[in-house]
Amino acid sequence: MKPGYTADIGLEVHAELQTQSKMFCICPVVDLTQAPPNSAACPVCAGMPGTLPVVNARAVELALRVALALDCTIARTSRFARKNYFYPDLPKGYQISQYESPLAEGGVLPVHSEEGWINVRIRRVHLEEDTAKLTHVHTPDGQAYSLVDLNRAGIPLLEIVSEPDLHTIDQVRAYTRDLRRLLQYLEVNSGDLEKGVIRFEANISVRPVGEINLGTRVEIKNLNSFRAMTAAIAFELERQTAILDAGGRVLQETLGWDEVEGVTRSQRSKEEAHDYRYFPEPDLPPLVITPNQLSTAQADLPERPDRRFQRFLVEFDLDAYQAELLINEKPIADYYETVLTHMDRPDPALVANWIIGELFGLINTSSQSIGQIAVTPQGLADLLSRLQAGQVNNPTAKTILNRMFTAGESPDEIIRAGNFAQLSDRETLAGVVDDTLSAHPDELSAYRAGKSGLRSWFFGQVMQATDGQANPALVNQLLNEKL
Ligand code: ADP
Ligand code: ZN
Ligand code: MG
Repeated sequence: MKPGYTADIGLEVHAELQTQSKMFCICPVVDLTQAPPNSAACPVCAGMPGTLPVVNARAVELALRVALALDCTIARTSRFARKNYFYPDLPKGYQISQYESPLAEGGVLPVHSEEGWINVRIRRVHLEEDTAKLTHVHTPDGQAYSLVDLNRAGIPLLEIVSEPDLHTIDQVRAYTRDLRRLLQYLEVNSGDLEKGVIRFEANISVRPVGEINLGTRVEIKNLNSFRAMTAAIAFELERQTAILDAGGRVLQETLGWDEVEGVTRSQRSKEEAHDYRYFPEPDLPPLVITPNQLSTAQADLPERPDRRFQRFLVEFDLDAYQAELLINEKPIADYYETVLTHMDRPDPALVANWIIGELFGLINTSSQSIGQIAVTPQGLADLLSRLQAGQVNNPTAKTILNRMFTAGESPDEIIRAGNFAQLSDRETLAGVVDDTLSAHPDELSAYRAGKSGLRSWFFGQVMQATDGQANPALVNQLLNEKL
């Protein structure tokens, strides 16, 4: 962005809640990329006259979890409203949402941006229902028409609205990344953006540096990936500063992002956007949160990722890079801590190095998740304990880990079957070193004549002669003595 301007960005994040059934009916929540269109629809979510909605209690539980994790104030009573508009993605002609009295307000999310930790204030968190999915197509002779899939209509949706506290693209990226991670930690959302389970709307304005009042904002709808969101915001920041530079005024409007052209386009005027004729949903009673529900949700809260990050720094003395990699996914952080509990002499740095340096590579090439791999935390702990005890050396331990990963055997089974135990017997090794030296008299005299680089060559020869199983420290010691 041009110098001389400050950007203010507020995000509305829509996250589907991982419930079994929809928000107001008993239709199952299906995988939208797999299920045949309209295979999960009923008279309620199809908007038939005479049907009545019933609130999904599980969706309320999950929403409470998120609101509590964001340190929001929970409303003891909130209300559903009808947001009226006519578009085929909503068969009822309105969306049930929370408007004037949302479930929760006034929270905060600590975000790990490039400049360090920033606190992004959360304006509100509310429940609503998702809309049907439209696919816009053309007949062979060019007539446009739309296909409606009701499978998505009525899936519980949580809207998380931030204050305009984000000022750079990096902060936007960090906020959405950290919020997505929090939702995964809370087990309320899979985080699979490719499946459309999280979608963004961005509100963007710019003002001259030093100006206190926020500029006029635009709202960009339906951003479905991090890439689309950051590209759209970057485009808007350029467009708006160019307008201000030229002495013009930014129009308040709703925009769409044209992925192909890489530009934002006006979607509808402000009047239309605000003409939703909200009114309280007459078919639903107020949503009352009991103290019991609150304490249950509180008890279900896992440690928040940012707190876990800080704890990993302090408790395990990891550096920020390692801690970030380990806490990024909750199952990995859990795995790491479980390995440590299985070790007699827990070594946090050693385990971190093996998970990040070795296990991640194996996981990536196999495209399994950490929950699916054959290497159990107990197995890795056993292997690393053997390594600590000097029973295997580093290269051998790597070979064993590979076997554990592919064959699913325990380290002890592999060591026994493969004769992998580290050669630490002094006499045996001394014999191997003697044999090696006498087998290479030329190199030996060259070494003694001052070609000191040959020392590591001899080391390599000994390791080769023992199939890599010799205890490296002992080999070094013996070479010192005998060379
Ligand atoms: P609406 O319901 O019309 O979208 P809200 O007041 O709920 O309006 O604001 C929605 C989002 O817009 C929030 O994320 C908020 O932070 C953001 N926002 C409000 N004013 C501005 C502004 N001047 N510049 C950037 N973002 C803004
Ligand atoms: Zn239904
Ligand atoms: Mg909005």
